[in-house]
Amino acid sequence: MQIFIPDIYQKSIYDIDYNKLKKKGIKCLLFDLDNTLVPVNNDIPTKKVKELFNVLEKDFKIIIISNSGKKRLTPFKEGLNVDVSASSHKPFKKKYLKIMNLYKFEYYEMAAIGDQLLTDICGANRIGITSILVNPIGDYEKWCTKINRFLESFIYRKLRKKGLLEKGDYYD
Ligand SMILES: [Mg+2]
Repeated sequence: MQIFIPDIYQKSIYDIDYNKLKKKGIKCLLFDLDNTLVPVNNDIPTKKVKELFNVLEKDFKIIIISNSGKKRLTPFKEGLNVDVSASSHKPFKKKYLKIMNLYKFEYYEMAAIGDQLLTDICGANRIGITSILVNPIGDYEKWCTKINRFLESFIYRKLRKKGLLEKGDYYD
C-alpha cells in the first residue's frame, strides 16, 4: 500500500510549493497531462498553464509524461514549448528510466505530479522520485481511466482506514 501514498498532496498544480521543491534539490518536474494540466477533452494548453510553466521554466526542466499518444501530446509540446514523453505506460519504470538517462537527472532531483494513484503516484514511487498528487480537473474520463478509478476507490478506502491518506487532507 505504501507504493500508492504520495509524498506531497495538493489541491492542484497551482497550489504546489515549487520553491520548497527547489530548495529540496528538485531540478526536473514530470507533469501528467490528462486531468492534471487540463481536462481530458481539452486539446490545447490553457493560458493559466502557460503562465505557470513560464515561471517554472526558470528553475526546472519540465517534461510532460503521459500515457496518451503522440497525437494528443503534440499541441502541448508546441504550445508550451516543453519536452514530452507519450505512451509512457505509467506505472511501468521504463520511460522514467529513459528520461533519467536522457536528461542526466538523479531520482532525487525529480518530482512527478499527477492525479492518479495507480499510474502517476505508483510510477513515481516505484522509481523513488518525489510523488505529488493533485485532484483531477474535469469530470470526463477515458474508459481505461474509469477502470483505474474503480480500483483506485478501493485503495483510497484502504488508505483511509489505515489513516494514511484522506481525500482533501492536503500536506506538503
Ligand atoms: Mg491524469
